[in-house]
Amino acid sequence: MPKKKIALVAHDNEKQDLLDWVETNRDSLMKHELSATGTTGRLIEKKLGIDVKTFRSGPLGGDQQIGAEIVNGNVDILIFFWDPLQPHPHDPDVKALLRIAVVWNVPVACNRSSADYLVSSPLFDEPYERTQPDYDAYGARRLPVK
Ligand code: PGA
Repeated sequence: MPKKKIALVAHDNEKQDLLDWVETNRDSLMKHELSATGTTGRLIEKKLGIDVKTFRSGPLGGDQQIGAEIVNGNVDILIFFWDPLQPHPHDPDVKALLRIAVVWNVPVACNRSSADYLVSSPLFDEPYERTQPDYDAYGARRLPVK
């Protein structure tokens, strides 16, 4: 079974919810490769004993690191429990991460019910060829510069 690369991020007020979700789905998740922003990843490792590749903490650039992983084709699924009720110093990074996931057609779950749908999909454990958008034309576009 091909391993999926799953990136996990949770804002502080959402961390307990994500930990509960990971615990509930521990057996399914352990078959795949997990990565996370710093604090989220360390909590998952400590509380649940699951190996997680950790990046920097979100406000210190971890969201951007995961965004770069998406651009490099190293993320198959993004689980991102962001906090809808609080502003954050790295709100632009949050928006950028959500945006780049859509740019590269990466499935994203932003709350627990969406994550439940993803983890229970047959595609979660099956090979899945994500349609890759063709951005060649965009890269080759001509701009009226002198
Ligand atoms: P954290 O980052 O896992 O390091 O707390 C999450 C975030 O706030 O983006």
